[in-house]
Amino acid sequence: MSKVVKFGGSSLADAKQFRKVADIIRADSERCYVVPSAPGKRFKDDTKVTDLLYRCYEMVVSGEDFAKAFAPIRERYDGIIADLGLSLSLEDEYVKIGTEFRNGTNRDYAASRGEYLNGIILADYLGYEFVDAARGIFFDRDGKFDADVTNACLGAILDRTPRAVIPGFYGAMPDGSIKTFSRGGSDFTGSVVAKAANASLYENWTDVSGFLVADPRIVKDPKGIEVITYSELRELSYMGAGVLHEDAIFPVRSANIPINIKNTNAPEDKGTLIVPSAENIPSKYVITGIAGKKDFSAISIEKDRMNTSKGFMRRLLQVLENHEIFPEHIPTGIDTVSVVVNSKELDGQREKLSERIRETVRPDHFEIIDGLALIAVVGRGMKSVKGIATRVFAALSHADINIRMIDQGSSELNIIVAINEADFEKAIQVIYDMFILSEQ
Ligand code: ADP
Ligand code: ASP
Ligand code: MG
Repeated sequence: MSKVVKFGGSSLADAKQFRKVADIIRADSERCYVVPSAPGKRFKDDTKVTDLLYRCYEMVVSGEDFAKAFAPIRERYDGIIADLGLSLSLEDEYVKIGTEFRNGTNRDYAASRGEYLNGIILADYLGYEFVDAARGIFFDRDGKFDADVTNACLGAILDRTPRAVIPGFYGAMPDGSIKTFSRGGSDFTGSVVAKAANASLYENWTDVSGFLVADPRIVKDPKGIEVITYSELRELSYMGAGVLHEDAIFPVRSANIPINIKNTNAPEDKGTLIVPSAENIPSKYVITGIAGKKDFSAISIEKDRMNTSKGFMRRLLQVLENHEIFPEHIPTGIDTVSVVVNSKELDGQREKLSERIRETVRPDHFEIIDGLALIAVVGRGMKSVKGIATRVFAALSHADINIRMIDQGSSELNIIVAINEADFEKAIQVIYDMFILSEQ
């Protein structure tokens, strides 16, 4: 049986981190397939190589000389190679990248070179074969990840390659051009590789000891989560818990492969195990985690007898669809409805949209409320315990935080509240205190 191990950017930020990664891989002979990210931050104000590459691309597009724009990136890789004492040279690769840039390459190609070059170094250091992700990970003509073609091609490559490094974050379009996943997408690559390799486990190595109950940048030393289900994790990732890319669970979930989130800087810590179901595994706290995101707007509509007005909801949603706006939540009252959307989706079309809504559903009152944050309180244990919502509301009201909207998923796995953005950090802290600190 093989394991797939993905290492994030901070885990491979410099030679010292590469050594830790190699030790981890060598400690378990089943760690056969390795998915690296591009080198990340070495210290707080450092810049990730992926961001340097986006910058380099913009500079070349606006007329800057490639060699000058690429210099800081080259320095990062050459530094790692020298510090590791490898005899490898990336000179030919740099020339190839320069040629692609001069021929007017696309932005995704530029960004993908971060993981591509890191993969070559890591493969050389480990003595593993390097498998370019463009040979095994594919998108369809519409730019959607092609799971079937990928699984067949990548599966065949891995079948004949017992140990390999496959760079994260990108794959190829049907015409061979490079396309990346969204930011943080190496997590998704790891999951795709785990499925194609029919792995027994997908280990995702990062800079924290697993999934924590809340974002450690907001709550000081939050408790860790030992076991979490795919569904809980999906809710938390989607709602902004940045540890794992929000789509990363899908490939492994369909193959029943568990994910273990581990800390490269503390490999002995157990981390978090992500499993299909955890019915028989009691959780320590009644909630599993808290996550949230800023930058939401509510399109708020009032209309008398809305609920008996035929096709009201359908017409409203059609207007939104025509403007490419995708509702996140739609809490309704008897004569009211709010559609919560990402504020960005309203950019440049607020007036047109408002006009169309007024024409189509003729509301008594209509407004767009900006500056909202959403917070999700997630937990498989919530279904069987009464009074969870009451405690969320009590925590917020004691802290004088006004709740602008409430929504509960039909699976009773989460409670979502909208609050003003200014209250975001405080709200997460008080909900954490209510459920975690008070239960110790
Ligand atoms: P990598 O580079 O390894 O992919 P990321 O930066 O993408 O790592 O994800 C790990 C980071 O996610 C942590 O350093 C932490 O700051 C952040 N984070 C946000 N929410 C959580 C959470 N609930 N639990 C753990 N980490 C979190
Ligand atoms: N390097 C890419 C990014 O910074 C992908 C990843 O790290 O997962 O988004
Ligand atoms: Mg990440």
